[in-house]
Amino acid sequence: MKELNKSDPGILFMSKPLNGHHALITGGSRGIGASISNALAALGASITIISRDIDKLKLQARHLEKKFKSSVFYTSADITDGNQIKDSFAKSVASNGPINILINNAGIGKSMPFHKMNLEFWNETISLNLTSTFLCTQQVYETMRKDGYGRIVNISSTVGLRGYPYITAYSASKHALMGLTKSLALECVRKGITVNAICPGYTETDLVTNAIDNIVQTSGKDVNEVKTEIENMSPMGRLIKPEEVAESTAWLCLPSSSSITGQAIVVAGGALM
Ligand code: NAP
Repeated sequence: MKELNKSDPGILFMSKPLNGHHALITGGSRGIGASISNALAALGASITIISRDIDKLKLQARHLEKKFKSSVFYTSADITDGNQIKDSFAKSVASNGPINILINNAGIGKSMPFHKMNLEFWNETISLNLTSTFLCTQQVYETMRKDGYGRIVNISSTVGLRGYPYITAYSASKHALMGLTKSLALECVRKGITVNAICPGYTETDLVTNAIDNIVQTSGKDVNEVKTEIENMSPMGRLIKPEEVAESTAWLCLPSSSSITGQAIVVAGGALM
């Protein structure tokens, strides 16, 4: 089921093109990661979701099992810790088989004026948004190489493609993630593995709610005024929906997306990068 045969009718006619695939989504308990787990489960993949809050994981796992009849594994892990990554990936392989789709999604997007930022703040962002992607990808890469097949999608951001004030650590981590994506894509370009990035604009999740709260606190502005300002940063004048990010991510995970690699797909309501 991994590669399309020449006689296959084409992806539009296949209802479960990811049957037999195992997708692991970091930060799959809520926000964009939960939507990606829905989209991949709908296409037939077995799912592993990893994050820290076990209750939220359990809720999302139940949802996937009930709605999509998926085989779901979930485990709590802090993916800034290499040992917890190793342990949780090993358990997920034992439960659902080799991982052939990896979505490096868990991330934080805290803001701070540069002159107030300390090393602890910097390291927290780099560790989760960048180093965890390196560590998680290493867990699956050898198996993908041996199998001659894999799909890796890194959830970057529009802040990985251009600069914005007050988020130097976030922007630096996502720019570096783009470098990892493009270079690894070329390294495994003849191995059947694709490596791509999705770059969402402001998306309706807790991350943006927290960002709005932070701006309200530091600026003294009204919450609706701040929300409107953020919505208007997109030419469409609205926030992106997590489901919209998830659909684009799922498309990159299809067997038939085999010639799309090293790309940054911008999902940002018409913002030109
Ligand atoms: P979110 O709603 O805050 O969800 C973050 C997810 O990551 C949660 O499942 C969270 O669960 C998990 N997580 C956080 N820290 C973790 C850790 N140390 N170990 C394991 N899991 C951890 O964020 P989101 O908006 O969906 O963002 C997802 C990705 O999209 C991020 O990489 C973000 O940078 C990117 N993005 C978001 C936006 C946006 O506007 N929302 C725009 C562009 C890019 P626990 O807290 O339970 O661990």
